[in-house]
Amino acid sequence: MRQMKIAVVEGDGIGKEVIPSALEVLDALTLDIEKVPVEIGYGKWKRTGRAMTEDDFDIFRSCDCILFGAITTPPDPEYRSVLVRIRKEFDLYANIRPIKGITNSRDIDFTIVRENTEGMYSGIEEVLPDAVHSTRVITRSGSERIAEYACSLATEKRLTIVHKANILKSCWLFREVCIDVADRHKVRWEEMLVDAAAHRLVLNPERFEVLVTTNLFGDILSDMSAALIGGLGVCASANIGADYALFEPVHGSAPDIAGRGLANPIAAILSLAMMLKWYGRIKESDAVTGAVSDVVSRGITTPDIGGRCSTTEVAGAISRAVGK
Ligand code: ATP
Repeated sequence: MRQMKIAVVEGDGIGKEVIPSALEVLDALTLDIEKVPVEIGYGKWKRTGRAMTEDDFDIFRSCDCILFGAITTPPDPEYRSVLVRIRKEFDLYANIRPIKGITNSRDIDFTIVRENTEGMYSGIEEVLPDAVHSTRVITRSGSERIAEYACSLATEKRLTIVHKANILKSCWLFREVCIDVADRHKVRWEEMLVDAAAHRLVLNPERFEVLVTTNLFGDILSDMSAALIGGLGVCASANIGADYALFEPVHGSAPDIAGRGLANPIAAILSLAMMLKWYGRIKESDAVTGAVSDVVSRGITTPDIGGRCSTTEVAGAISRAVGK
């Protein structure tokens, strides 16, 4: 296998704590991986007036993927979100969020596959004097590729297609394409209106296996689902394209707790596990997720999930468990 090369973005706030934690775990695996640090984000914007340059993009292009911390997005109209630009540039169309219980005994284990490039976040908006029109774009090709991705995760599972096709014509197309793709791959599927899906996710999350949905619905359902398994500090995510990917904890830069050793590094460490799996390093990925479960079961956790340990203590325990 050729040497993997990853761009590493710590970013702002707790990104500067949780990404070094993930790298400590990566180092414990003693793999031949080149890590290229890239400084982008709000801190850089304040210092230089630019959050990300063309040179930064060139570094990203020279790497296989990005391990990303978090970036503070200030409420300044001049500031353009770097994450949105990266997603666009590399056409990272699939947002994947595994929701797996690690802090309680509930058997919650499902994955939300969210379309990441169109829907309500198409960016097509018309601002009139007394109204604003935001265009919801659903295309056959966009729906097809996200349905394909979801089906690849659901071969032995049940796929739940989440939509609002009783009201929205755009959802009707999404629904139709997802059903076609699922049938073609002989994937067992069901469909659910998004409001019903939200209700059932809260009441009975154990019943779900893989969900596929549009951009805005997926955004909301996945943050809601994070609350089912211990909150933002333990939720990892991947943004996947045809030949590039970015892995990041679901949480943001959390300036309220930054620099105090309170940040839970597990979301970033599980994002690292997703990266290793994506690259075909299944054994190493499993070793990382196993080490996380082991350390959590021994009560070595940060305060957000009931423990008394610091970021570095949790990361150290996970690295040692991986090294065993
Ligand atoms: P941003 O502006 O970057 O989105 P935010 O503070 O608005 O930052 P999040 O970073 O997602 O949003 O966090 C929301 C809250 O959840 C934080 O205030 C913090 O208290 C808590 N939180 C988020 N991530 C973690 C973590 N890894 N460990 C512990 N607590 C966390």
